[in-house]
Amino acid sequence: MDERAFQSWKFEGEEPAMEAKDGLPSAEHLGQRVSIRSHDPEGGFRDLLGHLVTPTQVRKKDGQIVTFDPSTIALWKVVPSNALSTGVFVYDTKSREKREVTISDGRALRLYSCGPTVYRDAHVGNLRTFLLADLLTRIVEVSGFKVHGIQNITDVGHMNEDLRVDGETDEEDKVLTQAKAEQIDPFTLARSYERKFHQDLARFGIKSADIYPRASESIDLMIRIIEQLIDSGNAYVGSDGSVYFSANTFESYGALSGNKLTELVPGHRYEYTGDGAKRFHADWALWKSAGERTQMVWDSPWGSGFPGWHIECSAMSLHYLKGHVDVHLGGIDLRFPHHENERAQSNSASLSEVTDLWMHGEHLLFEGRKMSKSAGNVVLMEDVVQKGFDPLALRLVFLENRYRSQMDLNWDQISAADSTLSRWRKKYQEWSSAELPSDSAEIDAHVESLFDIIRDDLDTPRALVELRAIERDASISPNGKAAIFAALDAVLGLDLTRAPKKIELSPEISELIEKRRTARAAKDFATSDLLRDQLFALGISVKDGPDGMSWEVIP
Ligand SMILES: [Zn+2]
Repeated sequence: MDERAFQSWKFEGEEPAMEAKDGLPSAEHLGQRVSIRSHDPEGGFRDLLGHLVTPTQVRKKDGQIVTFDPSTIALWKVVPSNALSTGVFVYDTKSREKREVTISDGRALRLYSCGPTVYRDAHVGNLRTFLLADLLTRIVEVSGFKVHGIQNITDVGHMNEDLRVDGETDEEDKVLTQAKAEQIDPFTLARSYERKFHQDLARFGIKSADIYPRASESIDLMIRIIEQLIDSGNAYVGSDGSVYFSANTFESYGALSGNKLTELVPGHRYEYTGDGAKRFHADWALWKSAGERTQMVWDSPWGSGFPGWHIECSAMSLHYLKGHVDVHLGGIDLRFPHHENERAQSNSASLSEVTDLWMHGEHLLFEGRKMSKSAGNVVLMEDVVQKGFDPLALRLVFLENRYRSQMDLNWDQISAADSTLSRWRKKYQEWSSAELPSDSAEIDAHVESLFDIIRDDLDTPRALVELRAIERDASISPNGKAAIFAALDAVLGLDLTRAPKKIELSPEISELIEKRRTARAAKDFATSDLLRDQLFALGISVKDGPDGMSWEVIP
């Protein structure tokens, strides 16, 4: 029982206060936050605070649905919402319009981002998606609000969508398949790629989420919500021992992706589960029976098995974000079926619209093509570093493009961004050492107008155009420019105030650098590549630009 809930009740003797409602909660109050005081059988009172989901049910803060008997109500009222408006607007996939990001509990923005499936290195396209959560977090924080961010780690249950040669769907778990290929224990594999994921995020300037729950450690949470969905009639146990979500029980299925149930063709592979014992072709597995599988299986009320992928995000978001998600993020490829199914599960389990805003980042192409193993054009963070570029140069390239436009990346863009970063860092040092005074009101006005641009659906490309204009603007003092760049970097995350390292090179390194310069001048590219690798191993990255070769100590 929430004691604070009734602090605002005013009693005059036994009479309820004026603001208490006449009549009973009804359909017109659905979705509102209500406070209900009922008589209990012992002659006392029982208090209930939450959102009205039906005229006789309330969803409490922890997501639990409580049914009350209207005939026992002593008094009740609608409690005004304490939601905060952040002034940040983003495009919501579900309503297909720009909407304001709102902190529904008045304390911290509840942000959920779909995380990596840890069976391989994240490529730069994945990193572009992960950058979205970081950008949103940073702009909400500089606007004066707190963010509570969750990102899941999928280490079990994400089925492989690759088609086998014989045309059958490969029903293998991505982590298990890779563990078999590398001949190691699946958990060892998952933990090692999870570590690499965190390293990549750190090099990319992405601030950590508050919690990174692992699927394999959240099995109890998933079992609990599956049981709830069976009880409510939204899920059933198939004849194969697997549990399926019954798509037809969720009326607004398709609201997110536009894929209506009536239009989904049987046999189309929009879901990674085979037909199995499903009652309807669009149903999907919440829990899969272990069958022959012996690794990564858990006991459940339905026997040994493992969870489906979509249920993981419902279980984690409802648990860690206490029944409501202010903003849910992911790549556009997750919109269907992953997010559509997650929404059906979460909303059915909590009898509410769990997610307020759905944000999706667009696809990244590399040199005009979708990145894929078969096309041989998968680019990793390691490749960017190996080529001698600052990892944050990649971040700058992404910021130059709108998150919800498809973008085509190439090495020239990264190289150009790398030069821009070096120039800005050098200039920052010069500007900040200048002694000319600066007008703080003018600086604040510039910074606020740049933040306003980013608050408008994360329009970082336009903010960067403005920043370049400020760089060239002779009417702004050097100190002023330094202050504006430093302030904006709180959102851009480009480490613009970092001083270039002054270093003494060892004779060995100096000699290798000279040798490489000579090799390049002689167009002996084999030797020059070899020397570049040797220098890289010694912590020096070399770059070939229009002005010849330059080098830098790897940070
Ligand atoms: Zn997810």
